[in-house]
Amino acid sequence: MTEGIRRKSKQRQLVLEAVKHSCCHPTAEEVFQIVRQKNPNISLGTVYRNLNLLAELGEIQKLSLGVECDHFDKMLLEHGHLICKNCGAIEDLPCTLSASIRSLLEEERKQGVDTVSLTVTGLCKQCGGGHTEY
Ligand SMILES: [Zn+2]
Ligand SMILES: [Zn+2]
Repeated sequence: MTEGIRRKSKQRQLVLEAVKHSCCHPTAEEVFQIVRQKNPNISLGTVYRNLNLLAELGEIQKLSLGVECDHFDKMLLEHGHLICKNCGAIEDLPCTLSASIRSLLEEERKQGVDTVSLTVTGLCKQCGGGHTEY
């Protein structure tokens, strides 16, 4: 194994850990800020490349939420997202929701579907969209 490859997999490991330890759905920029604290020489391009690689390897998920930048997700089970129209926060929707959409569709179409990617907009729990009692 050459030094180059070893360094590359170390960077990938750092990027993976940053996603796993971040709050929920970081952008490449946010992951970069975390990784940079441990490895000041890393570039945003390297972080981005590793994020895409990790997504291809199935270690993390890359989310296409229709917002301007890609978000990455450490949760690998199929689940949808709510984007808060007030603060832009991304919240996880229950996995059971995606699972029931999948089974409804499969029943109706009499064949499987590949992916259920579900994005809704509304208010996050913080902004009053949850079942918080006031
Ligand atoms: Zn909000
Ligand atoms: Zn998520």
